[in-house]
Order: sequence, then structure tokens, then C-alpha cells
Amino acid sequence: MKKTTLKKKPVVAKFKRPEAERVKNVLDTLKRMYPDAKCALNFNNNLELLISVMLSAQCTDNMVNKVTPALFKRYKTASDFASAKPQELERMIFSCGFYRAKAANIIKAGTVLRDRFKSEVPKNIEDLIEIPGVARKTANVVLGNAHGVVEGIAVDTHVRRVSQRLGLTKNNDPVKIEQDLMKLLPKEEWFLITYRLIEHGRHICDAKKPLCPECPLRPTCPSATFFMKKFWPSVVG
Ligand code: SF4
Repeated sequence: MKKTTLKKKPVVAKFKRPEAERVKNVLDTLKRMYPDAKCALNFNNNLELLISVMLSAQCTDNMVNKVTPALFKRYKTASDFASAKPQELERMIFSCGFYRAKAANIIKAGTVLRDRFKSEVPKNIEDLIEIPGVARKTANVVLGNAHGVVEGIAVDTHVRRVSQRLGLTKNNDPVKIEQDLMKLLPKEEWFLITYRLIEHGRHICDAKKPLCPECPLRPTCPSATFFMKKFWPSVVG
């Protein structure tokens, strides 16, 4: 008989409304914990940043950083990417996963940049999301890191999971999570909150087994009790 796999529901903290004081506490704690949080991708110019972020979908930044030095040696301009041979590009980015779709999007992106944007990476979200393979997350990362323009909050898998557990959103769709976070947080926090939540997701609030006993956010985290009972019942007592 064919096995059916049930998709696990994410742990979304139950809450009525995130209270301003608790949200401020979360922000301050994250700032203290990750004062130097930043984009972990290596890049030397805006085009390299854009391509790196495109490659990072469903892939770790570490893996992207391993692939890009050779890639950026081979392809230097939007026009180079536009005229890349799909098979060669696919081989070069194979380790990043989804290599066929990513290669096709990168070639189309190179073409659009060359033909519509004079080979420059656009400075606004409306133009950026018209580039094939670029959704709001990529656009937010590129805008903030390339141009210092902050129009939203980049929501990746870590940001989604940690925001849910911390009770900052009850949504699961990244666009809705972004809207929730934008309503909750002051604009000056929008850019760095992404990287702080990513660091927290990587080091402490692990997808499978969050390290709640070590987490400085535990007193203010509405999911802590659930995970403590599940993974550390002896600590809970
Ligand atoms: S207390 Fe646990 S669930 Fe809450 S943020 Fe920390 S590690 Fe994540």
C-alpha cells in the first residue's frame, strides 16, 4: 500500500495580540545576542549579490559561497549570464539544488537586466520582482544589501519558523508574515531583523529541536513551554 506522509504543521505560538513591550524585549534580546548579524553570502557587486540570493533558495548560504567563486569568474556581467549555455550553467550550480530551474531563471534574469535595466540591478522592489526568479524575499535582500533601500522584510525559512515560535505571526505564508512583521516592528529594525532571526534559527531555535534551555528569549517565548515539555521534561520538572 502506498505510504502517505502527513505534512507536519509548524508550531505557531497561540496569542491574541503581540504586546508592544514583549516585542521590544524580543528585539532587544536579539540585538544583544547577534550585534553583528549580516547577510552571509559572499559577493563583490550587486549582480553577484542578486545571483547569489537566487541560488540560495532551498540551499544553504555556505553551499552558495562554495559555488559562486568559480561561477563569477566565468560569468561577470548580465550579458554573460544572458548568453550562458544552460547545460554549462547547470553543471556549475548543480550543488545548489533545483539547478535546472535556477539556471533557466538566471539566464532569463541576465537577459532582462541587459535588455530592460541597462545591466544594472534595479533599486526598487517593483522592478526587481519583475525579474524571473526574484520574489519579495530576494528583492528585499538585494535592495537592502546592494542599495541600502529597505522597503520590506526578507522572510526565509528561519525567519518564518522563529517568528511563528516567538508569537510574532500566526501566518505561514511568507508574504503575510512579512506584513505582520512590518506592522509590529519599527522600520529601522526591518533590515537587520532578518539576519538576527536567521542567526537565531541557525544556532539556537533549530527546526527539529530548538535549544530552549539555552535560549535567552525563553522567558518571553510563547512556544518555550511546548518545546521544554517535549524535549526537556526533566528540566521542566
Ligand atoms: S525559547 Fe525555544 S522556541 Fe522560543 S525562540 Fe528560544 S529556542 Fe526558539
